[in-house]
Amino acid sequence: SQLIRIGIVGYGNLGRGVETAIQHNPDMSLVGVFSRRPPEQLVTLNEQTKVFAMDDLKSFQDKIDVLILCGGSKDDLPQQTPALAALFNTVDSFDTHARIPEFYASVDAAAAPAKKTALISVGWDPGLFSLNRLYAEAVLPDGETYTFWGKGLSQGHSDAIRRVEGVKAGVQYTLPSAKAMGAVRTGTRPTLSTRDKHTRECYVVLQAGADAAVVEQTIKTMPNYFDEYDTTVHFIDEETLAREHQRMPHGGFVIRSGNTCPEHNQVIEYGLQLDDNPGFTSSVLVAYARAAYRMNQQGQYGAKTVFDVAPGLLSMKSPEQLRKEML
Ligand code: NDP
Repeated sequence: SQLIRIGIVGYGNLGRGVETAIQHNPDMSLVGVFSRRPPEQLVTLNEQTKVFAMDDLKSFQDKIDVLILCGGSKDDLPQQTPALAALFNTVDSFDTHARIPEFYASVDAAAAPAKKTALISVGWDPGLFSLNRLYAEAVLPDGETYTFWGKGLSQGHSDAIRRVEGVKAGVQYTLPSAKAMGAVRTGTRPTLSTRDKHTRECYVVLQAGADAAVVEQTIKTMPNYFDEYDTTVHFIDEETLAREHQRMPHGGFVIRSGNTCPEHNQVIEYGLQLDDNPGFTSSVLVAYARAAYRMNQQGQYGAKTVFDVAPGLLSMKSPEQLRKEML
Protein backbone atom coordinates (compact mmCIF):
# COMPACT_ATOMS: atom_id res chain seq x y z
CA SER A 1 0.00 0.00 0.00
CA GLN A 2 1.01 3.63 -0.42
CA LEU A 3 3.16 5.53 2.03
CA ILE A 4 1.60 8.33 4.07
CA ARG A 5 3.27 11.50 2.82
CA ILE A 6 4.28 13.88 5.64
CA GLY A 7 5.30 17.54 5.59
CA ILE A 8 6.94 19.25 8.57
CA VAL A 9 6.07 22.89 9.24
CA GLY A 10 8.64 24.68 11.42
CA TYR A 11 12.09 23.35 12.08
CA GLY A 12 12.87 23.69 15.80
CA ASN A 13 13.17 20.94 18.41
CA LEU A 14 9.91 19.26 17.43
CA GLY A 15 10.61 19.63 13.71
CA ARG A 16 13.93 17.82 14.12
CA GLY A 17 12.23 15.21 16.29
CA VAL A 18 9.61 14.50 13.64
CA GLU A 19 12.31 14.19 10.97
CA THR A 20 13.97 11.52 13.14
CA ALA A 21 10.76 9.75 14.20
CA ILE A 22 9.56 9.21 10.63
CA GLN A 23 12.56 6.93 10.11
CA HIS A 24 11.00 4.51 12.60
CA ASN A 25 7.66 4.47 10.76
CA PRO A 26 8.11 2.58 7.49
CA ASP A 27 4.55 3.34 6.36
CA MET A 28 5.47 7.03 6.04
CA SER A 29 7.63 9.19 3.84
CA LEU A 30 8.91 12.70 4.47
CA VAL A 31 8.19 15.12 1.64
CA GLY A 32 10.14 17.94 3.26
CA VAL A 33 10.46 20.69 5.82
CA PHE A 34 8.69 24.04 5.38
CA SER A 35 10.13 27.00 7.26
CA ARG A 36 9.62 30.71 7.53
CA ARG A 37 13.37 31.13 7.39
CA PRO A 38 15.14 31.06 4.03
CA PRO A 39 15.66 27.35 3.13
CA GLU A 40 19.40 27.83 2.60
CA GLN A 41 19.74 28.85 6.27
CA LEU A 42 18.49 25.53 7.63
CA VAL A 43 20.82 22.64 8.32
CA THR A 44 18.73 19.49 8.59
CA LEU A 45 19.75 16.43 10.64
CA ASN A 46 19.49 14.29 7.55
CA GLU A 47 21.14 15.96 4.60
CA GLN A 48 18.70 14.21 2.24
CA THR A 49 15.77 16.11 3.76
CA LYS A 50 14.39 18.72 1.38
CA VAL A 51 13.74 22.22 2.71
CA PHE A 52 11.16 24.56 1.20
CA ALA A 53 9.95 28.06 1.88
CA MET A 54 6.58 28.37 3.61
CA ASP A 55 5.19 30.17 0.55
CA ASP A 56 5.72 27.01 -1.52
CA LEU A 57 3.29 24.99 0.62
CA LYS A 58 0.20 25.77 -1.47
CA SER A 59 1.65 23.91 -4.44
CA PHE A 60 2.01 20.77 -2.30
CA GLN A 61 -1.68 20.13 -1.68
CA ASP A 62 -1.65 17.02 -3.88
CA LYS A 63 1.74 15.84 -2.63
CA ILE A 64 1.26 15.80 1.14
CA ASP A 65 -1.26 13.71 3.13
CA VAL A 66 -0.62 15.21 6.58
CA LEU A 67 1.26 18.30 7.75
CA ILE A 68 2.85 18.03 11.20
CA LEU A 69 2.89 21.53 12.66
CA CYS A 70 5.93 22.06 14.88
CA GLY A 71 5.60 25.75 15.66
CA GLY A 72 5.44 27.26 19.14
CA SER A 73 2.14 27.28 21.03
CA LYS A 74 2.34 30.90 22.03
CA ASP A 75 2.90 32.76 18.79
CA ASP A 76 2.97 30.30 15.87
CA LEU A 77 0.17 27.74 16.15
CA PRO A 78 -2.72 30.16 16.83
CA GLN A 79 -2.05 31.55 13.32
CA GLN A 80 -0.56 28.56 11.53
CA THR A 81 -3.01 25.81 12.45
CA PRO A 82 -6.24 27.52 11.29
CA ALA A 83 -4.55 28.81 8.12
CA LEU A 84 -3.08 25.43 7.18
CA ALA A 85 -6.01 23.27 8.33
CA ALA A 86 -8.04 24.83 5.52
CA LEU A 87 -5.56 23.31 3.02
CA PHE A 88 -4.16 20.13 4.60
CA ASN A 89 -4.83 17.50 7.22
CA THR A 90 -2.81 18.61 10.24
CA VAL A 91 -1.46 17.52 13.62
CA ASP A 92 -0.14 20.01 16.19
CA SER A 93 0.97 20.09 19.81
CA PHE A 94 -0.81 23.23 21.02
CA ASP A 95 -0.23 23.11 24.76
CA THR A 96 -1.69 26.29 26.25
CA HIS A 97 -4.26 24.33 28.26
CA ALA A 98 -6.54 27.27 29.12
CA ARG A 99 -6.87 28.34 25.48
CA ILE A 100 -7.66 24.95 23.95
CA PRO A 101 -11.44 25.61 23.63
CA GLU A 102 -10.97 28.79 21.57
CA PHE A 103 -8.12 27.22 19.58
CA TYR A 104 -10.37 24.23 18.81
CA ALA A 105 -13.12 26.56 17.56
CA SER A 106 -10.82 28.50 15.23
CA VAL A 107 -9.30 25.33 13.76
CA ASP A 108 -12.65 23.59 13.37
CA ALA A 109 -14.06 26.59 11.48
CA ALA A 110 -11.19 26.27 8.99
CA ALA A 111 -10.91 22.48 8.65
CA ALA A 112 -14.54 21.30 8.60
CA PRO A 113 -15.76 23.18 5.49
CA ALA A 114 -12.54 22.22 3.66
CA LYS A 115 -13.13 18.52 4.54
CA LYS A 116 -9.78 18.32 6.30
CA THR A 117 -8.95 16.59 9.58
CA ALA A 118 -7.03 18.62 12.17
CA LEU A 119 -5.80 16.82 15.30
CA ILE A 120 -4.99 19.48 17.88
CA SER A 121 -3.08 19.45 21.18
CA VAL A 122 -1.36 16.14 20.53
CA GLY A 123 1.74 15.29 22.59
CA TRP A 124 2.06 14.02 26.16
CA ASP A 125 0.52 16.84 28.19
CA PRO A 126 -1.83 17.68 26.66
CA GLY A 127 -2.04 14.36 24.85
CA LEU A 128 -1.18 10.99 26.36
CA PHE A 129 -1.64 12.34 29.91
CA SER A 130 -5.07 13.75 28.97
CA LEU A 131 -6.11 10.34 27.65
CA ASN A 132 -4.95 8.59 30.78
CA ARG A 133 -6.77 11.08 33.00
CA LEU A 134 -9.92 10.40 30.97
CA TYR A 135 -9.60 6.59 31.11
CA ALA A 136 -8.97 6.68 34.86
CA GLU A 137 -11.86 9.01 35.61
CA ALA A 138 -14.28 7.06 33.43
CA VAL A 139 -13.38 3.78 35.14
CA LEU A 140 -13.28 5.15 38.69
CA PRO A 141 -15.87 7.95 38.89
CA ASP A 142 -15.56 7.98 42.68
CA GLY A 143 -11.94 9.11 42.93
CA GLU A 144 -9.31 11.79 42.61
CA THR A 145 -6.76 12.34 39.82
CA TYR A 146 -3.25 13.66 40.50
CA THR A 147 -0.74 14.77 37.87
CA PHE A 148 2.92 15.11 38.79
CA TRP A 149 5.51 16.49 36.38
CA GLY A 150 9.23 15.85 36.20
CA LYS A 151 11.97 15.47 36.52
CA GLY A 152 11.70 18.04 33.84
CA LEU A 153 13.49 20.98 32.36
CA SER A 154 11.08 23.90 32.32
CA GLN A 155 11.81 26.32 29.49
CA GLY A 156 9.65 29.06 31.03
CA HIS A 157 11.28 28.86 34.46
CA SER A 158 14.77 28.64 32.93
CA ASP A 159 14.05 31.84 31.00
CA ALA A 160 12.80 33.46 34.21
CA ILE A 161 16.01 32.78 36.16
CA ARG A 162 18.15 33.97 33.25
CA ARG A 163 16.39 37.34 33.47
CA VAL A 164 17.46 37.81 37.10
CA GLU A 165 20.15 40.46 37.53
CA GLY A 166 23.53 38.85 38.13
CA VAL A 167 22.64 35.60 36.37
CA LYS A 168 24.73 34.71 33.33
CA ALA A 169 23.11 31.38 32.47
CA GLY A 170 20.99 28.74 34.09
CA VAL A 171 18.40 25.99 33.93
CA GLN A 172 15.46 24.98 36.08
CA TYR A 173 14.15 21.49 36.79
CA THR A 174 10.73 20.67 38.21
CA LEU A 175 10.67 17.56 40.41
CA PRO A 176 7.74 15.58 41.74
CA SER A 177 7.80 15.19 45.52
CA ALA A 178 8.48 11.55 46.42
CA LYS A 179 6.58 11.98 49.67
CA ALA A 180 3.46 13.29 47.92
CA MET A 181 3.57 10.54 45.29
CA GLY A 182 3.90 7.92 48.01
CA ALA A 183 0.84 9.32 49.77
CA VAL A 184 -1.19 9.28 46.55
CA ARG A 185 -0.19 5.68 45.79
CA THR A 186 -1.66 4.47 49.08
CA GLY A 187 -5.07 5.23 47.63
CA THR A 188 -6.14 7.49 50.48
CA ARG A 189 -6.69 10.58 48.34
CA PRO A 190 -4.53 13.08 50.24
CA THR A 191 -5.13 16.82 49.93
CA LEU A 192 -1.95 18.29 48.44
CA SER A 193 -0.99 21.93 48.00
CA THR A 194 1.11 23.23 45.12
CA ARG A 195 4.10 23.27 47.46
CA ASP A 196 3.48 19.66 48.53
CA LYS A 197 3.45 18.26 44.99
CA HIS A 198 6.55 19.67 43.31
CA THR A 199 9.91 21.17 44.15
CA ARG A 200 12.09 23.32 41.91
CA GLU A 201 15.83 23.04 41.42
CA CYS A 202 17.90 25.74 39.71
CA TYR A 203 21.45 25.52 38.38
CA VAL A 204 22.85 29.01 37.96
CA VAL A 205 26.03 30.50 36.53
CA LEU A 206 26.71 33.92 38.10
CA GLN A 207 28.00 36.97 36.28
CA ALA A 208 31.38 38.20 37.54
CA GLY A 209 30.91 40.19 40.73
CA ALA A 210 27.29 39.16 41.32
CA ASP A 211 26.13 38.50 44.88
CA ALA A 212 25.07 34.85 45.17
CA ALA A 213 22.89 35.44 48.24
CA VAL A 214 20.95 38.21 46.52
CA VAL A 215 20.47 36.16 43.34
CA GLU A 216 19.28 33.17 45.37
CA GLN A 217 16.78 35.28 47.30
CA THR A 218 15.47 36.96 44.13
CA ILE A 219 14.87 33.61 42.47
CA LYS A 220 13.20 31.99 45.49
CA THR A 221 10.75 34.84 45.99
CA MET A 222 9.86 35.44 42.33
CA PRO A 223 6.05 35.67 42.11
CA ASN A 224 4.18 33.20 39.86
CA TYR A 225 7.35 31.22 39.19
CA PHE A 226 8.98 30.24 42.48
CA ASP A 227 7.27 31.81 45.51
CA GLU A 228 4.75 28.96 45.85
CA TYR A 229 7.42 26.24 45.74
CA ASP A 230 10.34 24.98 47.76
CA THR A 231 13.24 25.96 45.53
CA THR A 232 16.91 25.01 45.74
CA VAL A 233 19.54 27.09 43.93
CA HIS A 234 22.89 25.54 43.02
CA PHE A 235 25.71 27.73 41.74
CA ILE A 236 27.85 26.07 39.10
CA ASP A 237 30.45 27.12 36.53
CA GLU A 238 29.88 27.36 32.80
CA GLU A 239 31.74 24.12 32.03
CA THR A 240 29.49 22.14 34.37
CA LEU A 241 26.40 23.73 32.83
CA ALA A 242 27.60 22.79 29.36
CA ARG A 243 28.55 19.27 30.43
CA GLU A 244 25.61 18.26 32.63
CA HIS A 245 22.63 20.39 31.69
CA GLN A 246 22.23 20.28 27.92
CA ARG A 247 19.52 17.64 27.76
CA MET A 248 15.80 18.31 27.80
CA PRO A 249 14.47 15.62 30.16
CA HIS A 250 10.85 15.56 31.21
CA GLY A 251 8.01 13.24 32.12
CA GLY A 252 5.69 12.68 35.00
CA PHE A 253 2.86 10.64 36.39
CA VAL A 254 -0.91 10.55 36.17
CA ILE A 255 -2.32 8.75 39.18
CA ARG A 256 -5.98 8.26 40.04
CA SER A 257 -7.03 6.71 43.25
CA GLY A 258 -10.65 5.78 43.65
CA ASN A 259 -13.04 3.45 45.34
CA THR A 260 -15.35 0.82 43.94
CA CYS A 261 -16.75 0.47 47.46
CA PRO A 262 -15.68 2.18 50.71
CA GLU A 263 -13.28 -0.57 51.76
CA HIS A 264 -11.57 -1.07 48.37
CA ASN A 265 -9.02 1.52 47.20
CA GLN A 266 -8.10 1.15 43.54
CA VAL A 267 -5.07 2.96 42.07
CA ILE A 268 -4.32 3.58 38.40
CA GLU A 269 -0.92 4.93 37.38
CA TYR A 270 0.65 6.01 34.11
CA GLY A 271 4.20 7.35 33.96
CA LEU A 272 6.72 8.77 31.52
CA GLN A 273 10.44 9.15 32.05
CA LEU A 274 11.86 11.03 29.10
CA ASP A 275 15.51 11.78 28.35
CA ASP A 276 14.40 14.12 25.61
CA ASN A 277 11.02 15.84 25.75
CA PRO A 278 10.85 17.09 22.12
CA GLY A 279 12.09 13.77 20.74
CA PHE A 280 9.29 11.96 22.52
CA THR A 281 6.60 14.54 21.75
CA SER A 282 7.52 14.30 18.08
CA SER A 283 7.06 10.53 18.16
CA VAL A 284 3.55 11.04 19.52
CA LEU A 285 2.83 13.56 16.74
CA VAL A 286 3.93 11.06 14.09
CA ALA A 287 1.69 8.27 15.41
CA TYR A 288 -1.24 10.69 15.43
CA ALA A 289 -0.44 11.78 11.88
CA ARG A 290 -1.29 8.22 10.83
CA ALA A 291 -4.62 8.51 12.63
CA ALA A 292 -5.32 11.91 11.03
CA TYR A 293 -4.77 10.40 7.59
CA ARG A 294 -7.09 7.47 8.30
CA MET A 295 -9.79 9.60 9.91
CA ASN A 296 -9.79 11.89 6.90
CA GLN A 297 -10.28 8.90 4.63
CA GLN A 298 -13.20 7.86 6.82
CA GLY A 299 -14.80 11.29 6.39
CA GLN A 300 -14.14 12.52 9.94
CA TYR A 301 -13.57 16.18 9.16
CA GLY A 302 -12.88 19.20 11.36
CA ALA A 303 -10.84 19.76 14.50
CA LYS A 304 -10.35 16.69 16.71
CA THR A 305 -8.47 15.96 19.92
CA VAL A 306 -6.87 12.79 21.26
CA PHE A 307 -10.27 11.97 22.80
CA ASP A 308 -11.77 11.55 19.31
CA VAL A 309 -9.11 9.15 18.00
CA ALA A 310 -9.77 5.41 18.23
CA PRO A 311 -6.59 3.75 19.57
CA GLY A 312 -6.28 1.28 16.70
CA LEU A 313 -5.90 4.16 14.23
CA LEU A 314 -2.53 5.00 15.79
CA SER A 315 -1.00 1.64 15.05
CA MET A 316 1.01 0.60 12.03
CA LYS A 317 -0.75 -2.76 12.33
CA SER A 318 -4.07 -3.58 10.70
CA PRO A 319 -7.21 -4.09 12.83
CA GLU A 320 -7.03 -7.86 12.06
CA GLN A 321 -3.44 -8.07 13.22
CA LEU A 322 -4.19 -6.07 16.37
CA ARG A 323 -7.08 -8.39 17.30
CA LYS A 324 -4.87 -11.41 16.83
CA GLU A 325 -1.82 -10.10 18.73
CA MET A 326 -3.16 -7.81 21.38
CA LEU A 327 -6.57 -9.05 22.47
P1 NDP B 1 11.18 25.72 19.05
O1 NDP B 1 11.29 27.05 19.68
O2 NDP B 1 12.39 24.86 18.93
O3 NDP B 1 10.58 25.91 17.56
C1 NDP B 1 9.42 26.67 17.32
C2 NDP B 1 9.54 27.37 15.97
O4 NDP B 1 10.54 28.38 16.04
C3 NDP B 1 9.97 26.44 14.85
O5 NDP B 1 8.87 25.83 14.26
C4 NDP B 1 10.75 27.35 13.90
O6 NDP B 1 9.89 27.86 12.88
C5 NDP B 1 11.25 28.46 14.82
N1 NDP B 1 12.69 28.27 15.11
C6 NDP B 1 13.27 27.17 15.67
N2 NDP B 1 14.59 27.33 15.78
C7 NDP B 1 14.86 28.58 15.30
C8 NDP B 1 16.06 29.33 15.15
N3 NDP B 1 17.25 28.83 15.49
N4 NDP B 1 15.95 30.57 14.64
C9 NDP B 1 14.75 31.08 14.28
N5 NDP B 1 13.59 30.40 14.39
C10 NDP B 1 13.65 29.17 14.89
O7 NDP B 1 10.01 24.99 19.83
P2 NDP B 1 9.86 23.40 20.12
O8 NDP B 1 9.97 22.65 18.86
O9 NDP B 1 10.74 23.03 21.26
O10 NDP B 1 8.37 23.32 20.68
C11 NDP B 1 7.25 23.73 19.91
C12 NDP B 1 6.00 23.71 20.78
O11 NDP B 1 5.67 22.38 21.12
C13 NDP B 1 6.16 24.42 22.12
O12 NDP B 1 5.72 25.75 22.00
C14 NDP B 1 5.26 23.64 23.04
O13 NDP B 1 4.09 24.39 23.25
C15 NDP B 1 4.88 22.40 22.27
N6 NDP B 1 5.11 21.18 23.07
C16 NDP B 1 4.01 20.43 23.43
C17 NDP B 1 4.15 19.29 24.20
C18 NDP B 1 2.95 18.46 24.57
O14 NDP B 1 3.08 17.51 25.34
N7 NDP B 1 1.76 18.73 24.06
C19 NDP B 1 5.48 18.86 24.68
C20 NDP B 1 6.57 19.67 24.19
C21 NDP B 1 6.37 20.79 23.43
P3 NDP B 1 10.48 28.19 11.40
O15 NDP B 1 11.23 26.99 10.93
O16 NDP B 1 9.28 28.50 10.60
O17 NDP B 1 11.39 29.38 11.59
